[in-house]
Amino acid sequence: MGEYDAIVVGAGPGGSAAAYWLASAGLKVALLERKALGRDKVCGDGLTPRATKALIEMGVRPATESYHRIRGLRVLGAGREMELDWPTLSNFPGNGLVAARRVLDADITDRAVEAGVDVLDMTEAVGPVREGSTLTGVMWVRKEHVEGGGVVKADEGVLLAPFTIVADGASSSFGRSLGIRMDPTYPLGLGIRAYYRTDRHDDDFIESWLELRKDDLLLPGYGWLFPLGDGTMNVGVGLLQTSKKTLNVNLNRLQHDFIDVLPRSYGITHEGATGPYKSARLPLGGSIRKPCGDGFLCIGDAAGMINPFNGEGIDYALETGKLAAGMISAALARGSSTELVDYQVALRDIYGGYYRLGRLFLRMISKPELFRVMCQIGMRSETVMAFALQVLANLAEENGGKLADRAFRGLVKVAERGLDEYTEPDIPMPAGVPSRDRVEV
Ligand SMILES: Cc1cc2nc3c(=O)[nH]c(=O)nc-3n(C[C@H](O)[C@H](O)[C@H](O)COP(=O)(O)OP(=O)(O)OC[C@H]3O[C@@H](n4cnc5c(N)ncnc54)[C@H](O)[C@@H]3O)c2cc1C
Repeated sequence: MGEYDAIVVGAGPGGSAAAYWLASAGLKVALLERKALGRDKVCGDGLTPRATKALIEMGVRPATESYHRIRGLRVLGAGREMELDWPTLSNFPGNGLVAARRVLDADITDRAVEAGVDVLDMTEAVGPVREGSTLTGVMWVRKEHVEGGGVVKADEGVLLAPFTIVADGASSSFGRSLGIRMDPTYPLGLGIRAYYRTDRHDDDFIESWLELRKDDLLLPGYGWLFPLGDGTMNVGVGLLQTSKKTLNVNLNRLQHDFIDVLPRSYGITHEGATGPYKSARLPLGGSIRKPCGDGFLCIGDAAGMINPFNGEGIDYALETGKLAAGMISAALARGSSTELVDYQVALRDIYGGYYRLGRLFLRMISKPELFRVMCQIGMRSETVMAFALQVLANLAEENGGKLADRAFRGLVKVAERGLDEYTEPDIPMPAGVPSRDRVEV
């Protein structure tokens, strides 16, 4: 196989979005995915208005019209229940979505294919090709399913390109082969989920339970119920790994107990599960300090980009995919160095303050007594919780707006002051990005 302008490793939302934006800018792109397209992924399947906007920008509109539409969040805690609509903003759509990942990810990859990307599925990036310290390509192995189950090696080879985007998810084995490491002082989450048959499958709110307990201990995490509109709900729990106490929690047990505490009227039972429990790690809050090197950029989970406030990472995978594509297409147009240090600066500029705020929030909720008091205060006031929803989902007007928008931006600005060497870099975007237009679904 020949040379490309860029190689993307991993066809999750991040990798497929990056490939789509690169090809839309006229570049020759190969997208490698180690599994067959249409693979499942352990996730809550929830898409905030932020993720919805990123999908619309890529023209995933036909699919977003068939996904289950969500008007807001129902939150339960401190003995109360509240329904909060997503905020009305000029820069984000007024709805979220829930879509099973095997459908969502394939739809995004389809957009990449339509844009001209060569997609190679069942093809794993197994090692880097380097010239000196510069990454110049990827060694790959293609596997095939065989009759009776299992896979065998079918082919192997090398692809060359001046830039590679590493989008291989939370475990990021290819990223690790390039020396990318998670900062162990950063928070890590764990999540588990299963699908259940229920009449509540067409609820138009996603639901979040703030109080997860092991015995009497209030745990830093939450339980979720995300309706898919297809007869099932994605139900799961997410837990922050902050102390020995949370490290010792058995996730399967926690999921089992969460199902048991749900009201009978929900009709969600162990017997109604349509598949097994599945769990995975969540690298939170920008935990990869240097997500780039000579010839490559990491995006999405491979860059540790999951929102520390709520564990959502699809939107940040889509956004960092677009950002990385913009950086690479600009560098190729300029013929500039393959060392795109501006990427790291741009991540800090866009997300640094917000993620720092999120990490402070996690420190607070990891103290059970403080978390309990925060829940009690918050759940007494719809205004406080509506503001919390804006902050947790990272949704605010870019300029002006209501008091909540200004207060949120103010908090982020204060958090930015704690970052070292904060600057405002020039951030190139791929061609055709309607970045500040109002978008609606
Ligand atoms: C339990 C749980 C619940 C979650 N719930 C939500 C939620 O409701 N909403 C939300 O926004 N986020 C949620 N997240 C986070 C979200 O799943 C991730 O942030 C998101 O999938 C990141 O996308 P990505 O493209 O970076 O990586 P991934 O989606 O992980 O995609 C990486 C891809 O790379 C492929 N790959 C890996 N290695 C190689 C290789 N060497 N060669 C080729 N291909 C390779 C993998 O097969 C995979 O397809 C949840 C996470 C967990 C664990």
